[in-house]
Amino acid sequence: MWSKTDHPQGAARGGGVDILMYHSISGGGGATNIAVEVFAAQMEVLAASDVPVISLDDLVAARSGGPPVPSRSVIITFDDAFDDFARSAFPVLERLGLSATVFVPTGRVGASETWAGASDPPRRLMDWRTIRDLAGHGICFGAHTVTHPDLMALPLADQKRELVQSKATLEDHLGRAVDHFAPPYGRASAETRRAIAAHFKSSCGTRLDRAGAESDLMDLPRLEMFYYQSPARFAAYLRGRGQGYLRWRQTLRGLRSAMVKPWAQGQGSLTARPQSGAPEA
Ligand SMILES: [Zn+2]
Repeated sequence: MWSKTDHPQGAARGGGVDILMYHSISGGGGATNIAVEVFAAQMEVLAASDVPVISLDDLVAARSGGPPVPSRSVIITFDDAFDDFARSAFPVLERLGLSATVFVPTGRVGASETWAGASDPPRRLMDWRTIRDLAGHGICFGAHTVTHPDLMALPLADQKRELVQSKATLEDHLGRAVDHFAPPYGRASAETRRAIAAHFKSSCGTRLDRAGAESDLMDLPRLEMFYYQSPARFAAYLRGRGQGYLRWRQTLRGLRSAMVKPWAQGQGSLTARPQSGAPEA
């Protein structure tokens, strides 16, 4: 932990936080897989930097009058709770003394991904015993709905059921409050975000940016780590010299979404979205 006096000038309530987004740590192809050697190199760069790793709880607490977060910090997140998290990612995190949040689609725990955009062959998710074990080792678990739908394709009542049931199931299994959420594909309208806010303290999206003091806690941007597979590039970013690359990636994403609009055509189009694009699941 840090104290206010550690960061007397730079501290801002909820200020510059890079929320790293990972999916699978495996050798599989596709933009939602990052090889374990690459992940380990990224985490080693992070651990060797002077940028502290905090939690979503720290960020939320800072926004509600708690201790401010450092002027520059990182939060590590994983979507989908694939079982390679336990096998490949957790040992690296544990060795380096880093923690992370994993967003779980509760209806697929112990089974394989079946949702739009799934890998071929489908990747397995952790089982409940593994999830409980990891929670006992300091990993934070958040909800990622029950069935991993595109929430925007569902009526609001069904969206709310996905939110409430995933939170309740996780809380039953973990015996603790579950305060953080991530909508599948980063898809959540203002109305959906209001529903999320009724049950959770934060929600992580897929918009590519650094979270700042003004960021909406119900629409937190993240940093897609597929773009930072070069440890040197990630190190430069952490040193504050990588902003140009981030802006360039944001521009490419903006152009692509303007041209492709993959979400506008309903659920069926999700599997057909361009594989060259950024992972947004
Ligand atoms: Zn997902």
